[in-house]
Amino acid sequence: MTDSATSHLLPVFARADLGFERGEGCWLISTKGERYLDFTSGVAVNALGHAHPRLVKALQEQATKLWHMSNLFKSPDGEKLAARLCEQSFADFVFFCNSGAEAMEGVIKIVRHYHFSKGHPERYRIITFEGAFHGRTLATLAATGAAKYLEGFGPPMDGFDQVPHGDIEAVKRAIGPETAGILIEPVQGEGGVRSAPPAFFKALRQLCDDHGLLLAFDEVQTGMGRTGDLFAYKRTGVTPDVMSLAKALGGGFPIGAFLATAEAASGMTPGSHGSTFGGNPLAVAAASAVLDVMLEPGFFDYVQKMSLLLKQKLASAVDRYPSILAEVRGEGLLIGVKAVVPSGDLVNALREQKLLTVGAGDNVVRFLAPLIVSEAEIEQAMACLERACTALSSDPSKKAAGQ
Ligand code: PLP
Repeated sequence: MTDSATSHLLPVFARADLGFERGEGCWLISTKGERYLDFTSGVAVNALGHAHPRLVKALQEQATKLWHMSNLFKSPDGEKLAARLCEQSFADFVFFCNSGAEAMEGVIKIVRHYHFSKGHPERYRIITFEGAFHGRTLATLAATGAAKYLEGFGPPMDGFDQVPHGDIEAVKRAIGPETAGILIEPVQGEGGVRSAPPAFFKALRQLCDDHGLLLAFDEVQTGMGRTGDLFAYKRTGVTPDVMSLAKALGGGFPIGAFLATAEAASGMTPGSHGSTFGGNPLAVAAASAVLDVMLEPGFFDYVQKMSLLLKQKLASAVDRYPSILAEVRGEGLLIGVKAVVPSGDLVNALREQKLLTVGAGDNVVRFLAPLIVSEAEIEQAMACLERACTALSSDPSKKAAGQ
């Protein structure tokens, strides 16, 4: 393997010294032939695990038919996929793109353009929340609002007003004559698996209705089953006007989307948005197969059952290792464990035990098992956690975070 001193990949990731060449279900096989239990799911992407036979078949079949064609022409399979996503959600229209950040760019554009088309171009500002993550393009970074990501890239794009997460009075104060909408993740993923109560989402919906604002949900991480429903908004008790998807939508094949009601989309006319690759036939084939599997009876009951099991086991580990683990949070299989030791030390200790997890804000480690994880695999993951906690407990160099 190329080491970091000789790599020609732009060094923007602090990559672990570990490479993989194959995946099978919940397992990744390293270049050295070692098996790792993958509770990263490619950061909430491989919802159906690796090399799922239905996804492999769908891509292989599509690969012999058509790889790409331009959006100058009709897309029968894209039409079908869009119709199915609308049937399963609040939306009337779907735009396909290629990543989460690109989906979020579309969300921001549609929220702004809605007011423009209603004769209010001055209404372009969007209220966002501290701890959010919406992507790495210039607009989505501005929406994310975190100084550590914005520094060095010039003035952040104007038009975002950030308020503390869960603070409805702060949202009310931030609404002004230029406000166009409110943007929120149903559960903050990168921010540390932080939820808000249904009452907060209801209050946001009410504020939007009272002030003529659009409510936009970023479901790039939460969408496509991660929280135990196809879309996490279904668990908040409200429906948004606009929503983004990406990550698990293609089960590992890059595809994003934004979805909108007919009213929210009423300003979007030919020429107002576009993409060369968006709705690519390979991506549509992968996403259609993901949806086929997720919509089979019992799929989400199974996810919720595994969620309960994993959360119970993690809570028991928190009780037994209070100097290492502090708290379990999250919904479905978007589960975070707030650590007492620095979360990076816990991620490393778990990796040494051949369990892969992902760090997040607020000193949290995310356990993002593929949604097809078995009880036996959860048991194996918990045995890895046990060994990692034992190793950390006996290592005096690993102090509580911040000490
Ligand atoms: N929005 C949310 C909630 C995310 O979690 C992410 C990625 O982690 C993004 C947007 C950006 O997605 P991408 O990395 O595909 O651009």
